[in-house]
Amino acid sequence: MSIELKLNSWIQDAYSRGASDIHFEPDKDDKVRIRFRVDGKLKTIETAEGARVVASRIKVMAGMDLNEKNVPLDGRIRVDKWIKSLSTLDMRVSTLPCLGGEKIVCRLIDRKKLDMSLDEIGFTPKMLSRYRPLIAKPHGLVLHVGPTGSGKTTSLYSIIQTLKKQGDLNIQTAEDPIEYDVFGITQTMVNAEQGLTFPLVLRALLRQDPDVILVGEIRDAETGTIAVEAAMTGHLVLSTLHTNDAVGTVVRLLDMGVPPFCIAYALSCIVSQRFVRRLCTKCRRSQAPDATAQKILGSTRPIYKAKGCSECSREGYKGRIPLFEFLPSSPALRRAVYGNVTPDSLNATAQANGLVSLFEDGRDKVWLGQTSLQEVMRLTQGAGNPAAKPKPKRRVATGLGQTGVKPGKPRRAPAGLRPKAKGKPQAKPQAKPKPRPR
Ligand SMILES: [Zn+2]
Repeated sequence: MSIELKLNSWIQDAYSRGASDIHFEPDKDDKVRIRFRVDGKLKTIETAEGARVVASRIKVMAGMDLNEKNVPLDGRIRVDKWIKSLSTLDMRVSTLPCLGGEKIVCRLIDRKKLDMSLDEIGFTPKMLSRYRPLIAKPHGLVLHVGPTGSGKTTSLYSIIQTLKKQGDLNIQTAEDPIEYDVFGITQTMVNAEQGLTFPLVLRALLRQDPDVILVGEIRDAETGTIAVEAAMTGHLVLSTLHTNDAVGTVVRLLDMGVPPFCIAYALSCIVSQRFVRRLCTKCRRSQAPDATAQKILGSTRPIYKAKGCSECSREGYKGRIPLFEFLPSSPALRRAVYGNVTPDSLNATAQANGLVSLFEDGRDKVWLGQTSLQEVMRLTQGAGNPAAKPKPKRRVATGLGQTGVKPGKPRRAPAGLRPKAKGKPQAKPQAKPKPRPR
């Protein structure tokens, strides 16, 4: 089989297994190991000959320069140009020079997911009834937070899809990179190297009479401040932050230097999200909870358990669903944020004023048969789970050790590997704010 056909079949295979990434890892003997990340876990698919040819082929598909072998490159493949049957698949391609050649990772982006409505992204009806009014308001800041690959962007796009249907809103975005093209909204790509920073784009965008603004990510005080000010002055602002939980997000914004007053009054809600495995609906079975499960769940309500069948490769799980931690704003929370209280006190205020923890959302999803108690426990040890050991101290005071920089996201090469760059190159250095062009 030719390399072209092989590569096509790997891509098709990855797509049909629901993989999120394909890894192409070369070794010194020109062999390439192919691995897929499926439901969060890496699986080796095969080791094939011809690492260099495979790398070249992918780079051709992504429109990359074949001569650029010693710098990381960033590109995109519209897969239907090469494989007709995969009409909704895009791949974001990243290359990195390594021993043996170039390691290539392709992130699979299914444009079909872009059409998901809010009902489909994984909210329970109970949470959705509290969330929906917040995005129906013409102003306010809605933040989706979590680590890379937790589905934040998909969530924001589903809000955009929902709002777009109203037909009478000017929706504009500032993104880096643009994850999906959406018909009917205006998307601007941030490009810090050319001076097109988040703050610059946002200020320009605010002069364009927007109703809804999507800010790809809040990474610095300036972007954060513009976002919250916009949210206070009659715009619905949607954005993401690279933080671990909802309360930690408020602390992070404060740490960044965003004024507490602005955060307090702009914030509508924060949703922190994580994936757990979805129970296979073909083989899951309902049963009474055992004594431990009863204690954790505080109920004798039947729950579903994983079993395993041919449909789910004997795993008992197929696909993933998000768990959401939901922190709605409230007068008490506003007072706490404005009063610049300690993270512990902020946490207590959140819990007393409508916070839904990851564990509580997970528990609802266990009862709905969407996931298992084991999955929820695996994920939520310590995240509002009454059975978890109390943590001695929250780490939020240090801003969770987050840098605010998305890891693993190389800048558009070749500028990312400037020979002059000293020390550890930052993944995303912020360009100095430039004076506004007239
Ligand atoms: Zn099954």
